Amino acid sequence: MSNQPTSTQYDLRGSVAVVTLANPPVNGLGYSLRSGIVAGLDKALADDKVTAIVLIGSDRAFSGGADVKEFGTPKAGTDPNLGVVIRALEDSRKPVIAAIGGMALGGGLELAMGAHFRVAKPDAQLGLPEVKLGLLPGAGGTQRLPRLIGLEAALNIIVSGAPTPAKKFEGTPLLDAIIEGDLLAGALAFAEKAVADKLPLKRVRDLKVKAPGADAFLQFARNTVGAMSKNFPAPLKCVEAVAASVSLPFDQGLKAERELFMQLMATPESRALRHIFNAERAASKVSDIPEDTQLRDVKKVGMIGAGTMGVGITMNFINVGIPVALLEMKQEALDKGLATIRKNYENSMAKGKLTQAQLDERMALVTPTLEYSAFKDVDLVIEAVFESMEVKEKVFKTLDEVCKPGAILASNTSALNLDQIAQFTKRPQDVVGLHFFSPANVMRLLEVVRGAKTGKDVLATSMALAKKIKKIAVVSGVCDGFIGNRIVARYGQASNELLNAGASPSQIDNALQKFGLAMGIYRMGDLAGLDIGYAGRKRRKEANPEAYIPIVADRLAEAGRFGQKTGAGWYRYEAGKRDPIVDPAVEKIIEDFRTERGLAARKVSDEEVIERCIYAMVNEGARILEEGIAQRASDIDIVYLNGYGFPAHRGGPMLYADTVGLANVVRALKRIAAEPGADAKFWQPAPLLLKLAEEGKTFN
Ligand code: NAD
Repeated sequence: MSNQPTSTQYDLRGSVAVVTLANPPVNGLGYSLRSGIVAGLDKALADDKVTAIVLIGSDRAFSGGADVKEFGTPKAGTDPNLGVVIRALEDSRKPVIAAIGGMALGGGLELAMGAHFRVAKPDAQLGLPEVKLGLLPGAGGTQRLPRLIGLEAALNIIVSGAPTPAKKFEGTPLLDAIIEGDLLAGALAFAEKAVADKLPLKRVRDLKVKAPGADAFLQFARNTVGAMSKNFPAPLKCVEAVAASVSLPFDQGLKAERELFMQLMATPESRALRHIFNAERAASKVSDIPEDTQLRDVKKVGMIGAGTMGVGITMNFINVGIPVALLEMKQEALDKGLATIRKNYENSMAKGKLTQAQLDERMALVTPTLEYSAFKDVDLVIEAVFESMEVKEKVFKTLDEVCKPGAILASNTSALNLDQIAQFTKRPQDVVGLHFFSPANVMRLLEVVRGAKTGKDVLATSMALAKKIKKIAVVSGVCDGFIGNRIVARYGQASNELLNAGASPSQIDNALQKFGLAMGIYRMGDLAGLDIGYAGRKRRKEANPEAYIPIVADRLAEAGRFGQKTGAGWYRYEAGKRDPIVDPAVEKIIEDFRTERGLAARKVSDEEVIERCIYAMVNEGARILEEGIAQRASDIDIVYLNGYGFPAHRGGPMLYADTVGLANVVRALKRIAAEPGADAKFWQPAPLLLKLAEEGKTFN
């Protein structure tokens, strides 16, 4: 080892120089690694004893691609940039062999394609996933891969972004050898043989793309890719870049690729996807909890309640081999819950996603019980019983008596005060909220609710456990509705005002769906059921009749329209179908409601629908942030993207606001607040939003 930069290691093995990439965890191609590769190459070229150069990474990764830590910083483009490094390898007068183990993804695969020869472990994952960040491979990937594996195969890899095991490329010019045993030994042997046999140095740039019938194929690709990638420009640009590999000489193709890459880099869609990528990684970190916090062992789980949520939550654990003791009040409820779990697995089996043996294995991990004594040795209990403080009180008092010290006691409550629940035990430090979303076996989102006294190790364990059961967890402080449902309440209020002002449920839903939401708010209501919200409002009305302001939804519930489950809600549904049908009866209910309340209907524009609904979310998001309920704006985006069908190409409500410009959001809120019929207090911009807008800043 000499004066090499720290991210590579240089060794001589006989007459072969070995340059080892050493930037854990995945050899991200940051500045120091890039300059280390060039320095290693130069050293090898300057040494007359060296006859060949092997470039190798770790067992885990040859290279995972760009260094995410450098994303968006000037360092990402500082010379030697990746294009320069690849050119240096390609121009080397001594053979360069890339030895690929683990993965070669994105820039990692582009780097390998700059070598004269490539050898790989059979299970190494090769791919160009840039499209998943709304980009395309920008260091020659779209020009070199078609030259190595042909137009069609390259296009599929680049447009899908999916990795492929190296074994599948055996026999193509992409791989010169598959190495079954020790990768370095195999690569060294290959290098020595290449020198001995005087193999000509293969520069990929000199190859021609094999593409009979390219024009017809590319036209077909444009049509299919265009139809499949609505809202996302990157896949079509990938097709254009790959097309350039056929129609243009190599260097001009590289230039075309670069231009398309820069265009994509500037799109809001790519910004949104890169934001989500970073946001998902940030969400698991809790600022005041050290990364090395000692976690509690969770080997066995207790679940209380085998209703809608209990069933789904149980499946999350048995799916990953963690046994669950499932408790109910009555045998019938227990049987029903178990039958639902089995039915869900049978549905997966019918789709070929699960085998009978896996089903049996998972079912065997559930121990049904009517007795709390089954919880004596569990490490974690999650309750999903009725949403009533009295019921939760009984449950937590019992848990406090039966559970072993150190067991984590979790509640799936949607809206009750977790701190109050914690007080029912003598161990509030062990109490945490684990707020799953329905259906809990499907939805990726988990709000981990941090009570005033929740222990740091309990929170850290909950976050780690979420990862284990394949959830994306976001920490929320205690407040009414936590992050997600608290914002939904504002969303509902905004859409109500629109309804009162003259819009119809279908107009509002259509505008929201055109914006990109998976489902408009009224369709969502019909799916979730309108009875639950109504029951809550009825309680509030009984407690304080003067303060209660009726809404249209009350009239629907009073008419027995509870949504899909009763065949009618905001829409009408045909038996066994889920397609919403506009119902004149609802229009009548709304008109009568307006007459009764003295509201005059006017024309509402689709833009107004989006502005009001989305900015109401953003404004509440700002309050949530200011109060410290959410740790960071991107956590709010994650909640909305994963729990409420917010479109990925918008990056979440908070990023959307950043994209529009916070000053513009503030201006719109003030304008809405002054409009007739608007709740002026509701529309006041949150102090944090005002402050950021004044300072010209963004949430993210
Ligand atoms: P549910 O009515 O479908 O199921 C509740 C189950 O708990 C029933 O099977 C009931 O028999 C059982 N139960 C009630 N008291 C019990 C007790 N003392 N001991 C043992 N079992 C008892 O309700 P759900 O929709 O599954 O909701 C459960 C909890 O999850 C609530 O706190 C709710 O707010 C929360 N939650 C619900 C959703 C949702 O979309 N349904 C989403 C997130 C959170």
